[in-house]
Amino acid sequence: MIKIILATSNPHKLEEINAINKNPEIVFDVIQGDFSPVENGRNFIENAIIKAQEASKIMNTYCLADDSGLCVDALNGRPGIYSARYAPTQKEKIKKLLNELNQVPKEKRQAHFTCAMALVNSKGEIIHTQEGRVEGVIDYEAKGTNGFGYDPIFYVPDYKQTIAQLPEEIKNTISHRANALIPMIKWIEQNIF
Ligand code: IMP
Repeated sequence: MIKIILATSNPHKLEEINAINKNPEIVFDVIQGDFSPVENGRNFIENAIIKAQEASKIMNTYCLADDSGLCVDALNGRPGIYSARYAPTQKEKIKKLLNELNQVPKEKRQAHFTCAMALVNSKGEIIHTQEGRVEGVIDYEAKGTNGFGYDPIFYVPDYKQTIAQLPEEIKNTISHRANALIPMIKWIEQNIF
C-alpha cells in the first residue's frame, strides 16, 4: 500500500480524487492543518509543483498537488490560473464570467478546464507531472447543483448538460481531474510499486 498526501485544503478535490481512484492499494489523504502556499507560478504545472513541494516539506512523504482552472477561449484563456481568485465567492465568479461573456455568441463560448498534477517524493523531488483537460462551452446561466466551482455554467455538448447537472460518476469519468489522475495512477502503479 502507498499513502499519498494531497496538497489541498479543498474537500471536494479529495472526494473527487477518491472517487476516480479505483486502486485500493493507493490511499489518498489531505494535508492536516492550515495549508495555503503562495501560488505564484506562471502556469498550472508550476503552481502544482509549488503546492506539492510545500506539502512534502511538512509531511515528508509522497505528495500530490492539483492545480486547476477554467480557460475561456473568448477571454484568451482567462481566468486560467486565476480561477480561484477571479471574484470573492463562487456565485460572484459565475456572475462576473457571465457578464464578461454577455455579448459573446454561442459558437464562440468554447472553454476547457485544465488540471495539472505534480507528484513529489519525500525529499520534494518532482517524480511525475500530468495534465488533463475537458472541453465544453460556457452556458448563459447556472444550471445544476452537483460538483463545485464553475461546474454550473460549464456545458458539455456530448451530454447536453452542465457538469453540475451530471451525476458525479459521469463527471468523474470525463473531468479534467480524471484525465490527469487516471494516467498519474497508471504511472504510480508502474513506477512506485
Ligand atoms: P485551485 O484550487 O488553485 O486548483 O483552484 C482552482 C479553481 O478553479 C477553483 O477554485 C474553482 O473555482 C475552479 N475549478 C477547478 N476545478 C474545478 C472543477 O472541477 N469544477 C469547477 N470549477 C473548478
